[in-house]
Amino acid sequence: DFASAYFTMNETDAAEYVRERLNIFAEDADLECREIGDGNLNYVFKVTDLNSGQSIIVKQAGPVARISDAFKVSPDRNRIESEILALQGELAQGFVPKVYSYDPVMNCCVMDDLSDHEIMRSALLNHKKFPLFADQITTFLARTLLLTSDVVMGHKEKKGRVQQFTNPELCEITEDLVYTEPFYNCEQNDVFEGTKEFVHQTIWNDRELALETAKLKFDFMTKAQSLLHGDLHTGSIFIKEDSVKIIDPEFAFYGPAGYDIGNVVANLIFAYVHASYTIKEEKRKNEYLQYLEETIAQVIELFSRKFLELWDEAVTEQTATVPGFKEWYVDSILEDTAAAAGLELCRRVIGIAHVKDLTSISDEENRVEAEKICVTAGKAFILERASIRSGNDFVKVLRRSV
Ligand code: ADP
Ligand code: MG
Ligand code: MG
Ligand code: MG
Repeated sequence: DFASAYFTMNETDAAEYVRERLNIFAEDADLECREIGDGNLNYVFKVTDLNSGQSIIVKQAGPVARISDAFKVSPDRNRIESEILALQGELAQGFVPKVYSYDPVMNCCVMDDLSDHEIMRSALLNHKKFPLFADQITTFLARTLLLTSDVVMGHKEKKGRVQQFTNPELCEITEDLVYTEPFYNCEQNDVFEGTKEFVHQTIWNDRELALETAKLKFDFMTKAQSLLHGDLHTGSIFIKEDSVKIIDPEFAFYGPAGYDIGNVVANLIFAYVHASYTIKEEKRKNEYLQYLEETIAQVIELFSRKFLELWDEAVTEQTATVPGFKEWYVDSILEDTAAAAGLELCRRVIGIAHVKDLTSISDEENRVEAEKICVTAGKAFILERASIRSGNDFVKVLRRSV
């Protein structure tokens, strides 16, 4: 009985759920279900009607993480995910899966199956190029980040949104894993043996870095600037030649706009470092690295341009039209972008949540070198954030760290 109390579904349950609760498939549908989740927290069921070939995704969020019963995390994240997907679908049409239903008892939402796309991290690890990506992602970023802010929204309505997307448990995960633990010798950290000494010297022994990351943590907790995706790494991006779809916004909340942009940039850098150590043929390697550098620079440049253009069309706040204000505002987002990129680069090496871009580098010495590059660039992005503004500034920090 799906209506009375929560239980964690298995594949049979999920197929039954779709048959009973949704009017998506025909009466005589022959439903097959597979659990395809690969994350730490949730279950993702793909339900297919073998007669028509039509398919749908059911994502269920339990009261405990899928990797460990000991790890409790609020199932309200599934409401947040369902509601922000609907909102982002209006603000940035075509960039998120359509949501068909949200169920607060079973803590699950039903959405489009995007299996004709591939997860961007995997595609980049296979050294694929997506020439339209920078243009696509910056449309999504500029629209979702500006149109949810006080620049555009009525301030009372915006405060209602802040309340709607209050997400204390998932924010706490980020506060701990991104902003706190990586920057001291915390027991929960998980540093690759060969990289440890370097992290000690470069990160944990640096007082200025401790101070700057403390400041950034307080920005993250207190700067309710824009409705963020909150977990915008390349594993949350589905991509194919002509399409980008952003998934998994369960960490959404009102925070500093640069957080999302910085995560995109850092994850392009992980792909860059991966390619540096895995593409053997020199010419092909350099071509791919150049493509990634151009993409990073374009993400920054196109974001700035689109954000400023949209500002002129959409601004409603009187004081935001004062000459010089919008330039100051974009500058501060780019500073936060550099900081967020730096935090992500450090925490994926030092903290408990790693990325395949680094862990899949099988030669140990190469992996250590790759991780040192990420930490070096990460630290520079954090400490020098006040002077990192253009696409070229971001690329220069990366080149210098290699
Ligand atoms: P988690 O929050 O547990 O990380 P995700 O939303 O990232 O869950 O989904 C985990 C995996 O499930 C994705 O990497 C992808 O392979 C698959 N998946 C999720 N949503 C969809 C979808 N709408 N269509 C197809 N596959 C999906
Ligand atoms: Mg995942
Ligand atoms: Mg998730
Ligand atoms: Mg995910």
